[in-house]
Amino acid sequence: MNIAIDGPAGAGKSTIAKKLAKEMGFIYVDTGAMYRAMALYFLKQNLDSSNETEISAAAQAIDISICYQNGEQQVILNGENVTGEIRNEEVGNMASSTSVYPSVRKKLTSLQQKLADSTNVIMDGRDIGTCVLPNAEVKVYLTASVTARAKRRYDELQEKGEECSLEAIQTDIEERDYRDMHRDISPLKQAKDAILLDSSNLTIAQTAEAIQKICQERM
Ligand code: C5P
Repeated sequence: MNIAIDGPAGAGKSTIAKKLAKEMGFIYVDTGAMYRAMALYFLKQNLDSSNETEISAAAQAIDISICYQNGEQQVILNGENVTGEIRNEEVGNMASSTSVYPSVRKKLTSLQQKLADSTNVIMDGRDIGTCVLPNAEVKVYLTASVTARAKRRYDELQEKGEECSLEAIQTDIEERDYRDMHRDISPLKQAKDAILLDSSNLTIAQTAEAIQKICQERM
């Protein structure tokens, strides 16, 4: 049984999916983390995100896998646990720029499908309901206004003690949304059979509750 949650950056997908996975006994798969791990490799190799030939060649040489420690997903890049290195804006932007390439998407999509074949998953990303798990029992398109999403990212970074500007974060999110929604392959969009949920004015608990209700109705 699979649950697909798609939506733009900062909509709360991973927070909600993690919470639901724990409550429902499902495995949480954060597909963005896989795109980020690949992006980290490209950054470490000083590759130019606009050079498709170089990026595609490098993608073939990368080994990405997922494992779980104390119930938390860990991303392993070429044998090294990089979970702690992928959550910054530079890696996020590189992930968004390089996720447009078929070679990158093909590799990660097949890994994600294999994970969902063997166990019940809640998977979040951009193309889960449309491409990765088109037969998922439950599909949710989780979104929120750009201002709400920017504010959440801002608060998160402030909490970590990182210097940031709200305007810069908002611009970044808008650019990322545009790239993710307008790429040729597997763009971010609501699957025809997905339920739209706007979390702009909802708390984490309210959003999780709304999705749980959808699950109860569909499963
Ligand atoms: O979700 P997160 O912000 O960590 O994802 C980083 C980037 O990876 C996204 O902006 C998107 O370009 C890409 N991505 C994707 N398909 C997915 C998950 C993430 O293209 N299923």
